[in-house]
Amino acid sequence: TQAHIDAMEAHRGLNAFITETPDRALEQADAADVAIKSGDAGAMAGVPIGMKDLFCTEGVLTTAASHILDGFTPPYESTVSANLKKAGAVTLGKTNLDEFAMGSSNETSYYGPVKNPWKKQGDDADMVPGGSSGGSAAAVAGRLAIAATGTDTGGSIRQPAAFTGIVGLKPTYGRCSRYGIVAFASSLDQAGPMTRTVRDAAIMLGAMAGFDPKDSTSANVPVPDFEAALTGDIRGKTVGIPAEYRPDGLNAEVQAVWDKGVQMLKDAGATVVDISLPHTKYALPTYYIVAPAEASSNLARYDGVRFGLRVTDGVRSLDDMYMKTRGEGFGKEVRRRVLIGTYALSAGYYDAYYLKAQKVRTLIAQDFKKAFETCDVILTPTAPSAAFPVGAEVDDPITMYLNDVFTVPTSLAGLPGLSVPVDLDKDGLPMGLQLIGRPFDEETVLQVGDVME
Ligand code: GLN
Repeated sequence: TQAHIDAMEAHRGLNAFITETPDRALEQADAADVAIKSGDAGAMAGVPIGMKDLFCTEGVLTTAASHILDGFTPPYESTVSANLKKAGAVTLGKTNLDEFAMGSSNETSYYGPVKNPWKKQGDDADMVPGGSSGGSAAAVAGRLAIAATGTDTGGSIRQPAAFTGIVGLKPTYGRCSRYGIVAFASSLDQAGPMTRTVRDAAIMLGAMAGFDPKDSTSANVPVPDFEAALTGDIRGKTVGIPAEYRPDGLNAEVQAVWDKGVQMLKDAGATVVDISLPHTKYALPTYYIVAPAEASSNLARYDGVRFGLRVTDGVRSLDDMYMKTRGEGFGKEVRRRVLIGTYALSAGYYDAYYLKAQKVRTLIAQDFKKAFETCDVILTPTAPSAAFPVGAEVDDPITMYLNDVFTVPTSLAGLPGLSVPVDLDKDGLPMGLQLIGRPFDEETVLQVGDVME
């Protein structure tokens, strides 16, 4: 723990943490030490981790990387962070993220962008770590933490994992409790582990997961021993390759890494088959209706009365206070989402946008269901490119949204998705591949991913 605290302090330039809690970490490490010595240590005993600053942590500032939550210290703990604590994990601090987890580069944070520990060979420009769990990804990749929590609504665990050369798992929707996680899009949000290895992800998921009566969408299913699934033997498994994830103009290096992944799985004795997910091309527009719609509703609670920031300067009425607080408290991307979502949900447009998107979402889920009749797991790229330079896409929301093209279908269908690092591109930047599984079959996804490391 002390070594990781030292690393966290030595690499503040990455901006991976919003709040550091070294004193608490050392206390937790001492407690873990006692537990280990007395023989009742949990699976995460003494493991120093980063906690995405979207998880409410009792007595520790929780910002969601937003100005509007200024000074908010939750009076309670999220279930996932409580579970990890119970398993003995040591929390080093709260990691940076895109504001309210909206973004793919960690550049929308009120606390400034996170830098990817990786750079292009022979080039000193700072690269983004991906987003929204960019601080968690940078902390793990930069060796400031052994592991970190992430949340994934449309790719926010998997894409930053790919950009920083680590492992990231978005579990099945309902596997981990959402209780105490600042809500973005409630029908999509899911917590998961970000780690150096697939084995670490299996262990950490076991500690995070489980039924929680405090979250009405938490699934009452048993938590298997995920680590036991890592047999190293995937003979007899069938891997599906979806034709629709190979659009014209797919980056040649992404294609090459994908081909390499296919070969690895064939060499390990898996059968590789072509599959079709015909509604893939509608996933991105569907996501960018559903997610902002839910966000606009969830973010209505930040009114300047109940949490954080309240702007009173020159305020003439209650409505004026609401408007000024929200105008100043939310950043540009968050305001954009609230506007899009409010529009999509408004009386005259609900049927045309929100209802239509919900119907397409069902078709996307049915595509996967059908595909899983002929394969056990699906292999795709995680992202359409490797990490890009800080500042390159931040002013162009459409380009930024395109980062999520391979991750949002999984999210809309509620399926588990794992990103594993597979290769470096010609510039020496990490590239990842995504494995998608059947609902609540994280075991197969982890088993296959383990072979690809
Ligand atoms: N990049 C996506 C977005 O901006 C996904 C974010 C996430 O998964 N939290 O909405």
